[in-house]
Amino acid sequence: MEAKIISGTKLREDILSEITKKSVKLKEEFGRVPGLVTILIGNNPASISYVSLKIKTAEKVGFKEVQENLNEDVSETELLDLIERYNEDDTIDGILIQLPLPKHINEEKVINAIDPDKDVDGFHPVNVGRLVIGKNVVFPPCTPAGIIEMIKRSEIETSGAEVVIVGRSNIVGKPIANMMLQKNKGANSTVTIVHTGTKDLKSHCLRADILIVAAGVPGLVKPEWVKPGACVIDVGVNRVGEKISKKTGKKISVLKGDVDFDEIKKIAGWITPVPGGVGPMTIAMLMENTLNSMIAKVGKEIV
Ligand code: NAD
Repeated sequence: MEAKIISGTKLREDILSEITKKSVKLKEEFGRVPGLVTILIGNNPASISYVSLKIKTAEKVGFKEVQENLNEDVSETELLDLIERYNEDDTIDGILIQLPLPKHINEEKVINAIDPDKDVDGFHPVNVGRLVIGKNVVFPPCTPAGIIEMIKRSEIETSGAEVVIVGRSNIVGKPIANMMLQKNKGANSTVTIVHTGTKDLKSHCLRADILIVAAGVPGLVKPEWVKPGACVIDVGVNRVGEKISKKTGKKISVLKGDVDFDEIKKIAGWITPVPGGVGPMTIAMLMENTLNSMIAKVGKEIV
């Protein structure tokens, strides 16, 4: 039997409609909606396209959206001053700075300057610490949070499951590992991280009940690395060429994931597509974090 396809695009719509309803309730009760500022520096096409998608989604769920588009040559001090301004702004619950930054700006300094209570990306060391400890987690990083949500909503058993993660980055591999090992519903798993220093990738992957791949190598995971019935989450987004969009007639990138989708779907129990899998969930979780930031501030549960 073929694997069930976990559609991030479909789940995103469900989540965004839940967020929209809560945003309306916040407005009724507290006179304002969650506020998100997106800070974009320079004109890197990929960054522009990610930020415009985030802006469009924030508008769709009815948030207040503020855009700061800065020139490539903005100084570090100017950027830090701008962050400080939004740290102090009570109508803003989330500050998102699109990475990567230009070389003359110190990324660590910038991330550390964001108020941890507005750090909707969850990259500030205070939030990384909370995630590892597993307490007071308001801002789980968006991509790992999206993966957890996909697994939960697909009703896949995680307690006691062998979870193997390919990749040890700070934005995907390490945080998802920390989240899956917490003694929580939707987690409580036995976690292994494999990476470029691992000796036998295949033997580890073959053990996985849930295999999460975030390596950035197109087609790295082969069908013979996958246990029959496993859940395969493909985080990879690799631009492998260009094509003309049938819809718009414009040139668009051809995207490929980190796993051999066509063959692995014949073996796995569940699989996520690329595009249309983890990507849409990441943006939905950014909205969820912004919503939860305001909810944490007003100190009242919104159902
Ligand atoms: P990264 O380059 O920071 O980390 C990749 C990790 O994979 C490294 O830890 C490395 O050790 C490991 N790795 C690389 N090649 C390997 C190999 N041959 N064998 C074993 N391990 C290997 O990347 P990242 O930021 O974690 O992103 C990974 C992929 O996920 C990229 O394709 C990226 O575009 C994608 N991504 C997607 C989303 C999304 O929302 N869909 C979000 C973040 C990242």
